[in-house]
Amino acid sequence: MSIQEKKTGWNRREFVKAVGLAGLAAASAQVSEVFAAPAATGEATGAVVPRRILGKTGVSVPILNLGGMFDTINNQIIIKQALKWGINYWDTAEAYGNGLSEEGFGKFLARNPGTRPNVFIVTKLVPSRGPNLTERLEKCLARLQTDYVDLFYIHSITGSSDMTPAFRDWGAEMKKRGKIKYFGFSTHTNMAECLAGAARWDWIDAIMFTYNFRVMADPKMVEAVNACAKAGIGLVAMKTMGGGPGMPKSEMPAEMEFAERFLQKGFTDKQARLRVVWENPQIATICSQMPNLTILSANVAAALNKTKLAREDFTIMQQYAQATKSGYCAGCGHICQAAVAGAVPVPEIMRCLMYYRDYGEPELARETFADLPKQVRQQMTVVDYSQAERACPQGLAIGRLVQEAASLLA
Ligand code: SF4
Repeated sequence: MSIQEKKTGWNRREFVKAVGLAGLAAASAQVSEVFAAPAATGEATGAVVPRRILGKTGVSVPILNLGGMFDTINNQIIIKQALKWGINYWDTAEAYGNGLSEEGFGKFLARNPGTRPNVFIVTKLVPSRGPNLTERLEKCLARLQTDYVDLFYIHSITGSSDMTPAFRDWGAEMKKRGKIKYFGFSTHTNMAECLAGAARWDWIDAIMFTYNFRVMADPKMVEAVNACAKAGIGLVAMKTMGGGPGMPKSEMPAEMEFAERFLQKGFTDKQARLRVVWENPQIATICSQMPNLTILSANVAAALNKTKLAREDFTIMQQYAQATKSGYCAGCGHICQAAVAGAVPVPEIMRCLMYYRDYGEPELARETFADLPKQVRQQMTVVDYSQAERACPQGLAIGRLVQEAASLLA
């Protein structure tokens, strides 16, 4: 039994049995117990969230970590309260608020001397945003008011070939200089292929990737996650809510049924989405955007709850995923981008629209959209998406959604 198994209670075989090739229908039949009182109300107790080991780094991390895509400068109370609940893993990036997210965490460190050794800080850089990674990392460190980050990601890769030997060597050099402790990448696109590639290398310490109830049962994803876990790569889930660029209105029957199902058990549906990811012991931690105390508190309550999901819970999640499939982009960009001859990074545009619609974050959506190459923004509305729509396994109305993104975000 691995350290992770000891800590979580589910071993890999049990999990694969639960969410494996037969979909999400073969989960543990353990019936949900009465929920701990705080769970549905979002009121967490004084307890701290459980911890797991982040792969071969051997570092113990909270199963819930603080995503930094919010105004960290003016919401220091969230960082403070998260720490009280044991969330000492902060995830930020140069791209979040153009450095303002990092600044907010740096402000907290400056105002709370002695905190730095007790927090695990992650930052990331998108290579295409600028030429000199080393200089940019130095600026990240200056904004964070620290000499090093615990984990650094090459941000938002779309294929394993993006992780070139040059990045490998740069990561090794930054480790040698004491600027970073661990090195890896993040990905929202072609996640299974990215993970499968990384599992063959010995220089990736951790990966943050889109992982939720909609994609976790995909056989290629199951295989890639297994390979990474076997290779000792620390796995960090993000985008765990499974929201998309064209999700239906919340009053649709499938949405109502989904929400009601979990409310009857004491979960909100959002808490259930976190719980299903935690059921996989291979996932060390979930990166969650928690821009206010209500969401933070609800997520902490979900992390503290020990109730296992039942077979029917997995089934209803799968049914809901199926019913709302056409509103969710699964990130399989190799399919639609091939259909438009690489002219438009469709999943990136879908992600911008998701930030706008599902996250309710228009500024973040516009910032991310503005990062797209100018040529892409100019030509995206004149491309013919009919072939991409026919190929899309989710059945997204790509052409219409791209037009909407252009008019909302340009
Ligand atoms: S093929 Fe469809 S689901 Fe896959 S990335 Fe493209 S738009 Fe998204």
